[in-house]
Amino acid sequence: MFDVNVIRKDFPILDRTVYGKPLIYLDNGATTQKPRMVVEAITDEYYSVNANVHRGVHYLSQQATELHEGSRETVRRYINAKNVNEIIFTRGTTEGLNLLVATYGEEFMNEGDEVIISVMEHHSNIVPWQILAARKGITIKVVPMNDKGELLLDEYEKLFTERTKMVSIMQVSNVLGTINPIKEMIATAHKYGVPFMVDAAQSIPHMKVDVQDLDADFIVFSAHKVYGPTGIGVVYGKEEWLDRLPPYQGGGEMIKHVSFEKTTFNDLPFKFEAGTPDYIGTTAFAKALEYVNNVGIGNIAAHEHFLTEYATQKMKEIPGMRIFGEAPQKGGVISFLVGDIHHFDMGTLLDRLGIAVRTGHHCAQPLMQRLGIEGTVRASFGMYNTREEVDALVEGIKRVSQMF
Ligand code: PMP
Repeated sequence: MFDVNVIRKDFPILDRTVYGKPLIYLDNGATTQKPRMVVEAITDEYYSVNANVHRGVHYLSQQATELHEGSRETVRRYINAKNVNEIIFTRGTTEGLNLLVATYGEEFMNEGDEVIISVMEHHSNIVPWQILAARKGITIKVVPMNDKGELLLDEYEKLFTERTKMVSIMQVSNVLGTINPIKEMIATAHKYGVPFMVDAAQSIPHMKVDVQDLDADFIVFSAHKVYGPTGIGVVYGKEEWLDRLPPYQGGGEMIKHVSFEKTTFNDLPFKFEAGTPDYIGTTAFAKALEYVNNVGIGNIAAHEHFLTEYATQKMKEIPGMRIFGEAPQKGGVISFLVGDIHHFDMGTLLDRLGIAVRTGHHCAQPLMQRLGIEGTVRASFGMYNTREEVDALVEGIKRVSQMF
């Protein structure tokens, strides 16, 4: 049984106050809070296991390695990858996207080749491509959307040419909440013989992501958005693709043999993991995924769907309310503006009421240009948010609106 009040007890930070008011944390799209067992996994490992992984014959190193590699298996199961060799640990979504763009671009893209992205992408799925474009002369093509925030699939298909070498699109928008029909879009790309990489930063915490069912070639995500620690992320890639990509960084761990004349690289997944990994972080990350599994991703999705529908309905009653992103398939993100109140003023005054929301362009300035605005206020939900918190948000927005 899903009981939000039981869940909340596992997140100590939710008991704190700000400005003497109970904290209402609605910035889960930026990062989620951590359950006690995730934080304890960090201190426990530092206090009782800590040793570098993969190198030591000694007991602690072997124990740390078992925890670290056990976490890789937990991630594999979470996304239903075929093989642990397909799970590369990174620092986060941003590093994962940079890794894929740099290595795939190096091996498979040349001047005049094309990548397809979308108008709603996060900067981390735009700028690495622009860096590659400056280096190699590739072209970036952009899938447009309608005013509800849905990608135009007919236009998408028209973008494919014989020069298309990759599609890189987010599964859920961090601004609009739109759940893109990624499975269908992947099938289209494959029809043209083009691989597809998915920015799953905003989908992994909120819905079941099965890489085999999607038939995704690559997906990337961050632990900190799914109740895990900061500084850890994942690149999933089909083994046959990862095998064909060159290494990203050089150093320890990623080699088999080094001499001044010639170096041979390690097997997957280590080929992409130069240097000491954040093995403490991976243990804590696995604890977060186990926590989500225990609650049930279906229960989390249903709860967040309820909160989103309820909040949307209540917010629409507020005079001057504009909500950005009204796709029928939508996750727990509501971006809005009220009248001509600046998003920053709204966010700052809500903060004074104890309500934490995000304001600004949300690392999606091209999307802001498409919407004809500079920024929004964004409320984004997690598994521990309540209907009462939504009521407080709505009351808060009304209070702020009346002040202007
Ligand atoms: N993509 C999307 C859709 C995101 O929402 C974010 C985080 N806001 C990122 C990428 C970047 O994630 P990180 O900062 O964890 O690297």
